[in-house]
Amino acid sequence: MVDLAGQYQSIKSEVDTAIQEVLSSAYYIGGPVVSRFQQAFESYLQVKHVIPCANGTDALQIAMMALGLKPGDEVITPSFTYIATTEVIALLGLTPVFVDVDPNTFCIDPSKIEAAITSKTKAIVPVHLYGQAAEMDAIMEIANKHQLFVVEDNAQAIGSDYYSNSGTTSKLGTIGHIGCTSFFPSKNLGCYGDGGAIYTNDTALAEKLKMVANHGQKKKYFHEVVGCNSRLDAVQAAVLNVKLPRLDQYVDARRKVADYYDRVLGASPKITVPFRDAKSKHVFHQYTVQLKGVDRDGLQTYLAEQGIPSMIYYPQPAHKQPMFASFNLGDLNLPVTEELTKNVISFPIHTEMEEAQQAFICEHILKFVNRD
Ligand SMILES: *Cc1c(COP(=O)(O)O)cnc(C)c1O
Repeated sequence: MVDLAGQYQSIKSEVDTAIQEVLSSAYYIGGPVVSRFQQAFESYLQVKHVIPCANGTDALQIAMMALGLKPGDEVITPSFTYIATTEVIALLGLTPVFVDVDPNTFCIDPSKIEAAITSKTKAIVPVHLYGQAAEMDAIMEIANKHQLFVVEDNAQAIGSDYYSNSGTTSKLGTIGHIGCTSFFPSKNLGCYGDGGAIYTNDTALAEKLKMVANHGQKKKYFHEVVGCNSRLDAVQAAVLNVKLPRLDQYVDARRKVADYYDRVLGASPKITVPFRDAKSKHVFHQYTVQLKGVDRDGLQTYLAEQGIPSMIYYPQPAHKQPMFASFNLGDLNLPVTEELTKNVISFPIHTEMEEAQQAFICEHILKFVNRD
């Protein structure tokens, strides 16, 4: 689905030098390389505070801990997402309240949020799925009206811009109270191991986030709250320092691949290509289409036989996962989510893709799809 080895070859000498510097410096955790990344990321995002951490799942957990959410509090989130988003909600003893997604953007449907709000609701966690923004203007309006926190799961949409109704353009992830990102290798800004970051413009909240991520301490060995241990190591920060200046170029490369797929696959009446919301810049973490009247399993098998990978993100919605059985969500009705889990499929997309590869992939997709 991605070509991380190819991308590494294109930046090898810079990455190798940066890692070598870390090895020689003996600052393996924290230190100047991590600080440099933190500052560079703050300036890229135009955000006041970035708190690097160990991975994207931790970022979400630390965000919810720092907001002081308590067991029994309800958190509104989509069911059509990677499990990490909802898992940390349950892990902290909070109650996930699942809301259906928009059939175009695949992100939480703001028109269905208010019906899910109760006196226990404390936060909304939208997920910017596949690289496209949830409708942040509408979400922030609802959150402000009901005094709810908004934590953006931006693990799949780093580098995206959001054009708000007020006329301002912001980096996605910086609109809610807290943004969370993952640097998992295959993400749009990936390191060579695990990594993540939390960001906010609220200075008091930033202090809490930092404290929670560091064993609940501000001053060494004096622990104010129960926290956790979540750090970005210096080797990963070194890789990110090389890749961050190239993020926009990587996003452009992904968008070019998506344009090609749109052009060729969009010609088939059996394929709905991704919607592009005019309110944000789609950064195509995934290229995900909806199939109409096509045997999806058959297509995957046929493509695999041609050596073409494909993935289903995600085959089972969160509310149907056995891990949430205790929440009695069995009869929850989320028709768009259910439909999408049955008909979406994602094709390879990455920064090193060549047109000949895409032509080959599209030829076989269309050959199968147009069979009957
Ligand atoms: C990848 C991802 C995460 C978790 O990130 P990790 O670094 O793997 O912990 C969370 N949410 C979404 C939507 C993701 O895609």
